[in-house]
Amino acid sequence: MKISGSTALVTGANRGIGRHFAEQLLERGAKKVYATARDARRVDLPGVEVLELDITDPASVEAAAAAAQDVTLLVNNAGISTGANLVTGDLAKIRLEMDTHFYGTLSMVRAFAPALGANGGGAILNVLSALSWFSADGANAYGAAKAAAWSLTNGVRLELRGQGTQVTALHLGAADTDMMAWYEGAKTDPGDVVRAALDGIEAGSMEVVVDEWSAAVKASLAADPALFYT
Ligand code: NDP
Repeated sequence: MKISGSTALVTGANRGIGRHFAEQLLERGAKKVYATARDARRVDLPGVEVLELDITDPASVEAAAAAAQDVTLLVNNAGISTGANLVTGDLAKIRLEMDTHFYGTLSMVRAFAPALGANGGGAILNVLSALSWFSADGANAYGAAKAAAWSLTNGVRLELRGQGTQVTALHLGAADTDMMAWYEGAKTDPGDVVRAALDGIEAGSMEVVVDEWSAAVKASLAADPALFYT
């Protein structure tokens, strides 16, 4: 799908990767960009339409969908990382991971699918993670929720094929945002993440794997599926 002339909506657009999405969508000629955030006052981007939107609140999602009937590109970017593990972690944190990454993305897709269909099909991009694929101590609740969101992405692609909606998954390793501020290893520039994602949307890709590390992880898992379980 062409970005130029599209009407895009980005969740979590006040900072991090979401902010880069809003900026680059405008740079690529999007006709309109709805930059949404839990607190609308925290969006300070010129040229965007600001909407308040908490993806875990069904009423908020419905209100955003009613306000953005002209959308043709939905970018499900909003996310959290609680650091919870599955066996000993706080169950409320594990539920919040699922509420955000799985149910939040699902609510967005259900609320916006009719408008996308009415506007010619359009496209959905779901921001996932290399942790959709494998376990990592301290991020197992996050990984489980991202794996659920990845499965959701593939199911939604199948279900929306009839209305012509393109559905793209974005997988990445560590990017240099607040979420990974604690991490001292190599991190991808969030601007580069977004460039790769938008290139993928324009190319009609079903999956975009941003960084070499994620691509290497994917290749290793394909070569030795037992690694999925370690
Ligand atoms: P940040 O922590 O920098 O930003 C997260 C954004 O999501 C914020 O705008 C935040 O809003 C918003 N958000 C969180 N919960 C909700 C909610 N319930 N409703 C609406 N907005 C919400 O993280 P990143 O920019 O790094 O993350 C963007 C996406 O990329 C996430 O899905 C993340 O899981 C994914 N990702 C990031 C990686 C990384 O290394 N950074 C690696 C792999 C994937 P607020 O400001 O109100 O908190």
